[in-house]
Amino acid sequence: QIEKTHIIHWLELCATTYQDNQDFLTDLDRDIGDADHGLNMNRGFKKVAEKLPQIVEQNIGSILKNTGMTLLSSVGGASGPLYGTLFIRTAAAVGTREQLTFEELIDALKSGVDGVVSRGKAELGDKTMCDVWLPVLTSIKASLDKGTSADHLHNEMVELAEANVLATIEMQAKKGRASYLGERSIGHQDPGATSSLLMIKALKQAIA
Ligand code: ADP
Ligand code: MG
Ligand code: MG
Repeated sequence: QIEKTHIIHWLELCATTYQDNQDFLTDLDRDIGDADHGLNMNRGFKKVAEKLPQIVEQNIGSILKNTGMTLLSSVGGASGPLYGTLFIRTAAAVGTREQLTFEELIDALKSGVDGVVSRGKAELGDKTMCDVWLPVLTSIKASLDKGTSADHLHNEMVELAEANVLATIEMQAKKGRASYLGERSIGHQDPGATSSLLMIKALKQAIA
């Protein structure tokens, strides 16, 4: 069972990990973008963490929606509206709940990522954050459908995300700034896929 406190802890851990990994993400973005992804994520989640005390009394949906709105207005770039959409659409799927099962959270996140896809039009293999979210959520959902217990899937979620981040190295970017590089985008790990891995790691840690 995932409680509201787990979700709050997740958002706090995101703020910590983006602070710790600001330079790492920005260096990845220097290779195939404009060297601001770490800055963008750190700025956004710092704002999210600052606002958390004012919204902790609200339900999970409102907390996630607030997070999305904050990201939308403070992250900027391509990733701001996309991560904003991820949280806002996830929030809409969660509704006014105070607790969720792991499966409900996975379903809600899938609905969030579907929002990212409809906004950003990225397909699998385009070397974006979607190359982490889509395969991770699809595999976890399939394992849940087969009857694997949620507890066994927390680690698997991170392992899948790690493998899929590495898979972006060989991809040629078809969306976003990195796509301007054409074939020269091959050989570099995607920054947004990497920030998504960090988000998933934080989630695992928060619900463990
Ligand atoms: P910008 O490129 O505007 O500077 P960021 O550096 O913050 O924005 O984010 C770049 C990341 O955004 C990329 O690494 C990629 O994962 C993600 N991204 C860019 N365009 C799209 C898209 N259309 N769909 C999904 N993700 C995208
Ligand atoms: Mg950038
Ligand atoms: Mg930028």
